Amino acid sequence: MIIAERKPLDEIKTLVDDAQKVLVVGCGTCVTVCFAGGSREAQITAASLRMSTKLDGNGKNVGDVTVQRQCEWEYLDEIKDQVEDADMVLSLGCGIGVQAIAEHFPESWVVPGLNTTFLGIPSEQGVWEERCAACGDCILGLTGGICPIARCSKSLLNGPCGGSEAGHCEIDPDVPCAWQLIYDRLSSKDKLHVILDLQPPKNWSTSRDGGPRKIVREDLRLKAEEA
Ligand code: SF4
Ligand code: SF4
Repeated sequence: MIIAERKPLDEIKTLVDDAQKVLVVGCGTCVTVCFAGGSREAQITAASLRMSTKLDGNGKNVGDVTVQRQCEWEYLDEIKDQVEDADMVLSLGCGIGVQAIAEHFPESWVVPGLNTTFLGIPSEQGVWEERCAACGDCILGLTGGICPIARCSKSLLNGPCGGSEAGHCEIDPDVPCAWQLIYDRLSSKDKLHVILDLQPPKNWSTSRDGGPRKIVREDLRLKAEEA
């Protein structure tokens, strides 16, 4: 899932600036699961903003609403009237949600209430860890299901480096060395031969070097046209 955390209230207050009527918009998907921007967080953020600006002597009218997913037009259509009625939207969606609102309601001013951080999993209660960097050419089949792009600090394809010590990464003794994890996993499956093949430099053209990425599924487009 997409992992995010809420911006500090002081930063949010700066972003909201002189808007008097603010709509806080939560998102019911990833940011709900990571407790950053769901319905509960939207209510808390709206209440905090109301109270804090009132104490500052500049009380704002702050409402909140949460949609199932901010990144799909059909859910944004449900809040059209509320968005258009507000001076500003404070989105508690990920960066995609913020941009979707801005794109769908070009007349409205939208600011982010979250810092979108990474793609990851909840590894234990209250802890989220990065697992994927969305490189666009997944190599987990070669690494026992452990991603060296997101989890090795140097994104090495043929690790480990010389800094791996006692199963931990040289950047921090609390961080497991991804290549140690890969070795242990392949070893436990009797598949160590997989990493004996030297991997060539990764082709990063599927990643961040070529501008915004796009996937087009003509088969699905065709179905939509036929419907
Ligand atoms: S190899 Fe690429 S797509 Fe696969 S998990 Fe790692 S970053 Fe994500
Ligand atoms: S110690 Fe392990 S995880 Fe850290 S940079 Fe080296 S190979 Fe990657």
